[in-house]
Amino acid sequence: MVNVFLCILLVITCIFLGLRPQRRTIKMAIDRGIKRKEFIPFYQPIINSMTGSIVGCESLIRWCKANGEIISPANFIDIAEQNKQIYEITDVLISHVTNDIAKLNNISDDFFVSINVVPRQLQNQTFATKLLNTLSANKVSNHRISIEVTERTPFTDLSSAKAVMQRLVDNHIGIKLDDAGTGFGGFSYFQELPIRTLKIDKMFIDTIGTSDVKANILNAIISFGKKAKLTMIAEGVETQEQVNYLKTQGIFLIQGFFYAKPMPFSDLEKYIDNNMKG
Ligand code: C2E
Ligand code: CA
Ligand code: CA
Ligand code: CA
Repeated sequence: MVNVFLCILLVITCIFLGLRPQRRTIKMAIDRGIKRKEFIPFYQPIINSMTGSIVGCESLIRWCKANGEIISPANFIDIAEQNKQIYEITDVLISHVTNDIAKLNNISDDFFVSINVVPRQLQNQTFATKLLNTLSANKVSNHRISIEVTERTPFTDLSSAKAVMQRLVDNHIGIKLDDAGTGFGGFSYFQELPIRTLKIDKMFIDTIGTSDVKANILNAIISFGKKAKLTMIAEGVETQEQVNYLKTQGIFLIQGFFYAKPMPFSDLEKYIDNNMKG
């Protein structure tokens, strides 16, 4: 009994001494990164597999350090969220994305760039106000932006989220449910919130051509999406076999390494130019 108690005490002490300072260090590093303007968006194209044309892209944040090191969001987004630094990071990202869109020419009328936000941000009207103001200050049409909200973490205030989303949608900013099927909302979000687009997570795309039980979930998501008349985007698509299977299921909007990896803005401009030349 005493041993068990000592073990637990040891674990707690280790967590306290080890993890917490590490998190604090990362928090301070993030603050420095924000000041030094080291957070910038990369862009991953979303392709219509029937035509090969780019229809839009997703912005994915990268922490680009002065020494050339590029840090992926998996290493800092959760910490930034816990420390509420995510708000400032999102502001920075929106300002980059808006500036970048303003520079794009050669894009189709409905070309869009998605921005990832955590559910908590969508519960606050300040988010919508800032976004709409930034777009208007840069003379970027609202329909160029869409919001991806993950269902990996829950909404704590669904009715506020609904009001913010409705305001965005009324202003021509679409909302996409990210990582659908992996998290909290289940499919009830599509009934309760003004979301008309579903992103199918890589976890399910990976099951194509395998006998994984999750392959049934993929088919269930697709059939739900069709019945609810949602737009569906498949994410994490890496092979021709996956593209073909998705085509047979009527899913044509594809994002994944099969077509392109996330890239800096200068490469996106070239990508779009080449894509337009066909
Ligand atoms: P996500 O929103 O689900 O983004 C898709 C992730 O899948 C991206 O990882 C992308 O690079 C990766 N991916 C796309 N296609 C493929 C593929 O074919 N194969 C493989 N192996 N991976 C693929 P990334 O850029 O590392 O972002 C990870 C997560 O970090 C994102 O997942 C998103 O939840 C979060 N994130 C990224 N940028 C932001 C941001 O600006 N704000 C917030 N709140 N979260 C962000
Ligand atoms: Ca996303
Ligand atoms: Ca996703
Ligand atoms: Ca994902």
